[in-house]
Amino acid sequence: MRFEPLYDLPQEHDPAALAFAFSGDRLLVRGDAVLSPADLDGLPALVLGRLDGRLCLAYELADDHEPEDGLELLPLRPLWGRLEEPLWTLAGRALQTVAWNRDHAFCGRCGTPTEHLPGERARGCPNCGLSAYPRLAPAVIVLIERDGSALLCHGVRFPGKMYSCLAGFVEPGESLEECVHREIREEAGIEVTDLVYAGSQPWPFPHSLMVGFSARYAGGELTLDPSEIVDGAWFRPDDLPALPPYPSIARRLIDEWIARVTT
Ligand SMILES: [Zn+2]
Repeated sequence: MRFEPLYDLPQEHDPAALAFAFSGDRLLVRGDAVLSPADLDGLPALVLGRLDGRLCLAYELADDHEPEDGLELLPLRPLWGRLEEPLWTLAGRALQTVAWNRDHAFCGRCGTPTEHLPGERARGCPNCGLSAYPRLAPAVIVLIERDGSALLCHGVRFPGKMYSCLAGFVEPGESLEECVHREIREEAGIEVTDLVYAGSQPWPFPHSLMVGFSARYAGGELTLDPSEIVDGAWFRPDDLPALPPYPSIARRLIDEWIARVTT
């Protein structure tokens, strides 16, 4: 499926349009489907774009919205595998767009109500001219290999007993590569080499862009930062702990590493 972004609401009506309506971070669905704008009863729409030609709109519902019979409000994560993949990804885009639009209703510099800027995904201040674009927080995530094993850690905020790759947010002024080296040094006390870019993934919880790398251990003693990591170790592919669920990029990095070392 092909998605083309749009920044201004088209005039013409699209009877096949899709409506992504959120109450907080929960999406309104009917079974395995998103709604139609006709279900939203005149609520103001934010335009996202077209998916295979179908207009896609986003809506903000009240925090205490009560779904009608046959409809449900669900967080995005459990909807993965239930909504078609392109719709799930688009729902993440819609969630971030709705949150950004709500959080930038007023200028962050002078407090004046902002306005949609035509032709852009931006809100502008008519008083001081400040523009606000959707916020993205880039984060690196790294699969570190050492002699056929991978470093997997259980973070302090992880659910259950899951172990995953090391990850961290990019600081202002830092390159992705510098961030990888700093995060690994801070969280695990080791040095790495042979960084290879391994793909990226939008992660709308709430507005990350995960940038994946693989790397090789280059030196140092494994020393885990207890403020971030509860436990961590080098795991062999035939003796793995509980892994992160799909569709996380962490799981993809781990699966790709398993395929590399076991074939
Ligand atoms: Zn302003």
